[in-house]
Amino acid sequence: MSQEILIAGGGIGGLVAALSLKAAGFAPRVFEQVREPRPLGVGINLLPHAVRELTELGLAEMLAGNAVATRELLYVSAHGQVIWREDRGLAAGYRWPQYSIHRGVLQMKLLEAARARGIPVETGRRVAGFAQDAEGVTARFEQGGEARGAALIGADGIHSRIRAHFAPGEGPPCWNGAILWRATTVAAPYLTGASMVQAGHHDQKFVCYPIRHLPDGRVLTNWIAEMKVDPAQGFAREDWNREVDRARFLSHYEGWNWGWLDVPGLIRGAEQVFEYPMVDRDPLPRWTDGRVTLLGDAAHPMYPIGSNGASQAILDARQLALQLARAKGDVPAGLAAYEAERRPPTAKLTLANRALGPDVILEEVHRRAPHGFTDLYAVISREELETTAAEYKRLAGFDPALLNARESWSVGA
Ligand SMILES: Cc1cc2nc3c(=O)[nH]c(=O)nc-3n(C[C@H](O)[C@H](O)[C@H](O)COP(=O)(O)OP(=O)(O)OC[C@H]3O[C@@H](n4cnc5c(N)ncnc54)[C@H](O)[C@@H]3O)c2cc1C
Repeated sequence: MSQEILIAGGGIGGLVAALSLKAAGFAPRVFEQVREPRPLGVGINLLPHAVRELTELGLAEMLAGNAVATRELLYVSAHGQVIWREDRGLAAGYRWPQYSIHRGVLQMKLLEAARARGIPVETGRRVAGFAQDAEGVTARFEQGGEARGAALIGADGIHSRIRAHFAPGEGPPCWNGAILWRATTVAAPYLTGASMVQAGHHDQKFVCYPIRHLPDGRVLTNWIAEMKVDPAQGFAREDWNREVDRARFLSHYEGWNWGWLDVPGLIRGAEQVFEYPMVDRDPLPRWTDGRVTLLGDAAHPMYPIGSNGASQAILDARQLALQLARAKGDVPAGLAAYEAERRPPTAKLTLANRALGPDVILEEVHRRAPHGFTDLYAVISREELETTAAEYKRLAGFDPALLNARESWSVGA
């Protein structure tokens, strides 16, 4: 009989872990605290390494039908001047696309796929704690009752209950003083119709990308306005459903209509705007104990820089299944091998994102030419721009040549 693996959390990480474990011959069981999962959140990007993993799980068609294949990425100054432009996805030579997609839509489609493949996803069940022995692990639920399995995976997000076991007394996430206002707006397409734009600098940024092409030719554009605020204000606990008045930040973006992109227009056109503090947590010195481990935001919540949150959770999920399968029944050994594969790179990435990740070029250009430039390469060399972009791809695991050449993580491939 296949080993039962308990998963706390039915977000993107938990569901892809379940799909990967099932494909590898295990019997995953997902417990999600929410009684009726709904498509919450706004847009996310799935980088080609994560798209490769979802493709190998048979989900390529689902992605193509529900996302926009990102064509290019532009870095732009606060004056609307282009600093860096690079192809993305297939256009950049990857064997897999990069996708911009609504986070909630992706979660619902993964839930559908899990159920269609016979994976039990039990909703309204919040894991409150666990106990383990030599034979297995028992998860306890806040609503009462228990479940027993060979392993417990904490895929329960940034406020993970399972993480508390590895980091007792850790407290709230670390906040860097920036607030993100996030929304979607139905608008006319800009540039290629599939372009991702990162504009501004450290203290004031704007990111946007289309996540759906609509039948009338317009696009549903996801956007994020990010500003540093007075740290004395403190921050409210992250809540993806907290709506705010856009008057709090709109005036700061009034001058950001550059003709080819109308930032204040996008902000005005959104139906609802959500607020979220820029938070992460310190990398953990370990995240596995015997039959229990962490995955996704529970393991390594990072700033949403470089489009990595969901992608890294997907990579975790696939490595988890691969390493457990390779361990041939020795669950603690499999989980330890999974941690050895995933903890070092995700810790580096968390710290790199604290240092602005690839967005550092925006800050550099702003620092060196705060009022704009006439000759970009007099401000920053082409080599510096190329190196920054290439190094981040290597660090995050999506260097095109390495990704295209590396072996599959599918069990038995
Ligand atoms: C409601 C919501 C909306 C989001 N919206 C966006 C967005 O718009 N853009 C973006 O970039 N990122 C968003 N994120 C974050 C993004 O989804 C994650 O960074 C990324 O996908 C990693 O996913 P994860 O599965 O590790 O964690 P999460 O996506 O946080 O999923 C964790 C899941 O575990 C469940 N859970 C928590 N505690 C328990 C428990 N004790 N027992 C059982 N279940 C539990 C949660 O309800 C949730 O479904 C959102 C997250 C959530 C929860």
